[in-house]
Amino acid sequence: MPLVDSKLMSHVLTYVWEQHPSVCRHWFNEIELVDMDAGTIRMLVREPVQLKYLQRNCNDFFVEAVQAKTGKLLGVEFVGDVEQIDPSPVVRSGISISTDSNNGGDMVLSPDYTFDSFVVGPDNRLAHAAAMAVAKSPATAYNPFFVHGGVGLGKTHLLQAVCQSAMQNDPSMRIFYTSCNSFMNQFHESVQNGEMKSFRNRFRNYDLLVIDDIHDLSNRGPSQEEFFHTFNTLYQAGRQIVISSDAPPHEIPDLEERLTSRFSCGLVANIERPCYETRVAIVRSKAQLRSLDLPEDVAGYIAARFDTNIREIEGAITKIQTMAMLDGQVINLTLAKQALGSHIQADGTSKMTIQDILDTVSGFYGLKLTELLSKRRHKSVSLPRQIGMYLARKHTRFSLGEIGGYFGGRDHTTVMHAVKTINGKRSDDIRLDQDIFQIESVLLNEE
Ligand code: ADP
Ligand code: MG
Repeated sequence: MPLVDSKLMSHVLTYVWEQHPSVCRHWFNEIELVDMDAGTIRMLVREPVQLKYLQRNCNDFFVEAVQAKTGKLLGVEFVGDVEQIDPSPVVRSGISISTDSNNGGDMVLSPDYTFDSFVVGPDNRLAHAAAMAVAKSPATAYNPFFVHGGVGLGKTHLLQAVCQSAMQNDPSMRIFYTSCNSFMNQFHESVQNGEMKSFRNRFRNYDLLVIDDIHDLSNRGPSQEEFFHTFNTLYQAGRQIVISSDAPPHEIPDLEERLTSRFSCGLVANIERPCYETRVAIVRSKAQLRSLDLPEDVAGYIAARFDTNIREIEGAITKIQTMAMLDGQVINLTLAKQALGSHIQADGTSKMTIQDILDTVSGFYGLKLTELLSKRRHKSVSLPRQIGMYLARKHTRFSLGEIGGYFGGRDHTTVMHAVKTINGKRSDDIRLDQDIFQIESVLLNEE
């Protein structure tokens, strides 16, 4: 068996980082080259979740890299087990993380979704603390643990972090992580095949049952029934149940009352839209996973632009990273703006809308749109509101009265007052001036 060049691994990694940066993660440095066997290079990855990630997302890229670096038609195999390398059998405690891949619904855990990479802010503190407690000592503190929040706010991330952390704390723990729809599909299959009994028994064996997106239970009559029984069985056996949903239990439409009350009997925690600071930290965390150096102003820019669905932040980072790679440039604000598209029209004028202003201002200050438009006069709301009116006056052609209408039905004198106030404050409050400058640059997309 020819020995592989010890430098090959670092050459391969450099190649993949350069050519396919968006799939690369900081822990790639820990991949070890094992040997070459029958034209296949084997690489060792000890963390099962990382191994899965590489097998699913990166095989082609590594093959490409290996072939480019050796000039030979070689294959790549990622292995995670010493047994596969060392012929002497090693007894391992089985990690029975059963991720079902029914009906294409693959629920493989992502190595990106750990507690380490989860940013804690005022908007998710309770959910995070409860998730940590559940992972540390399942079925003691909060059972069931029910987390709810809007799309892209980190529910799946948190659920997977619970699984991965629980698995690390106790490798013998039997964990079942699935989506509600996957659960349903399995249920229907069992019904069709007359295997209801084994379906029920299967779940009795788990210490931790984690079900994502339980709101999909609405409109599923018979499945609700089955879920209720599964839930009860596990709950009564003292097993931990973790559930996520886009709405709190009592707001999930068409959900049986007995399920609603079961879901509510442990801890129900909400994840809110993250404020600006939390979003900046999330951008940083995402960049760190990719070993990506993002300048301060670029992180701020991304955080200000993507304020509702955090999932878009990831796409934005990938876009910027790819553009930098293609153009062979360093990442800076100009490049980031180019990558993410501009609000400037061909003739150089801005097509800024009042909606843009409302979104950006509320995002920047971590306010809900409804708060910004409300009658509340507290400074934390009234100042951003005044800034919004000021910006609308400065950057759009709407009249004072029209602007007042957009900002929660206020009259033109209120808008006039706001414009005057902010103009005054900009000249003697540096911090505020900078904030407004930052908001404006997001809106205008220029330096
Ligand atoms: P949901 O399941 O609520 O729709 P996800 O868990 O899929 O949302 O999160 C969407 C994206 O946002 C993921 O990339 C996730 O890592 C990221 N994200 C959301 N909240 C946070 C957070 N607090 N810290 C780090 N990443 C987060
Ligand atoms: Mg999700």
